Amino acid sequence: MARTSDIEKAAGALRAGGLVAFPTETVYGLGANAENSAAVARVFQVKGRPPTHPLIVHIGGAEHLGGWVEDVPATARLLAERFWPGPLTLVLRRGRRVPLEATGGLETVAVRVPDHPVALALLSAFGGGVAAPSANRFGSVSPTTANHVRAELGDAVDFVLDGGPCEVGVESTIVDVTGDTPSILRPGGVTREGLEAVLGCPLAVHSTSRVRVPGQHPSHYAPRARVVLVEPEKVVAEAEIAQELGHQVGVLLPPSFADAPVKAHAVVAVPGSTAAYARGLYGFLRELDQRGCDLVVASLPMEEGLGLAIANRLRRAAGPRSSE
Ligand code: AMP
Ligand code: MG
Repeated sequence: MARTSDIEKAAGALRAGGLVAFPTETVYGLGANAENSAAVARVFQVKGRPPTHPLIVHIGGAEHLGGWVEDVPATARLLAERFWPGPLTLVLRRGRRVPLEATGGLETVAVRVPDHPVALALLSAFGGGVAAPSANRFGSVSPTTANHVRAELGDAVDFVLDGGPCEVGVESTIVDVTGDTPSILRPGGVTREGLEAVLGCPLAVHSTSRVRVPGQHPSHYAPRARVVLVEPEKVVAEAEIAQELGHQVGVLLPPSFADAPVKAHAVVAVPGSTAAYARGLYGFLRELDQRGCDLVVASLPMEEGLGLAIANRLRRAAGPRSSE
């Protein structure tokens, strides 16, 4: 677990233009000084991420928004008051402190206040904004432990802060508040229902938009194994057929079939609570890769509450790989 001296070292690395992996409540981030274009460019390089795909700028509190955004519309203020610190990212008009490298050339910027003591301590010690996407290679499964980061990025990162396993486990919900009506660009840790309750109106979820969001690529959040989605009651049969055909099959077994015997290479019983499922999802996918599976059979949860984000990630994980 990160100590005060680690936080100081990590803040120093950021000041020196280095890259720091740090825990948040959603997933681990790969952070750089948001105002240092060269450091931000290294984030893209290390991730293998196309430079046109914007990063999220992390700040220590809504009171620090000045300079990072052009203005704070009433809707944004309302959502920030209710959900920050927390797994909500707001897309606002870009302020003068944000270099175009961090926004992939866009005139909008994504901003969030993470709800994790280590992330907040880092932001406070550093004093500025930290531009960070998830600390994984582009297109692959996001890291939810410090070991996931070390295994995937190793020496490419100057400092890895360990804050234990992430509490939420899926990325933040991204809400665009630059238009007349807010819309969800990516479902995540804050539920659509929770947002709608605060806003008092229904929210559209845009799975495609003119904005380039990596989470909107058909294939993203994907393990090495191919992911196949079927109806919950067909998971067991589908797994057996694929195993008989010679695949090393990994199964994400839906809660209602937890006791079913399955002929497969590796089986993970999906937790009944969506919060526990979201927390474990990326770890499960990594585990099935590690156990040598080449095919993962899974089903989608009900798309309500956190189930919306889980279903979104599973669909992307199962998306066509050739479009990457
Ligand atoms: P990651 O979680 O690694 O995919 O990185 C941060 C996420 O925030 C990506 O999905 C970005 O595309 C998204 N994002 C960052 N800036 C913007 C923006 N200005 N408009 C829309 N989405 C953004
Ligand atoms: Mg990512």
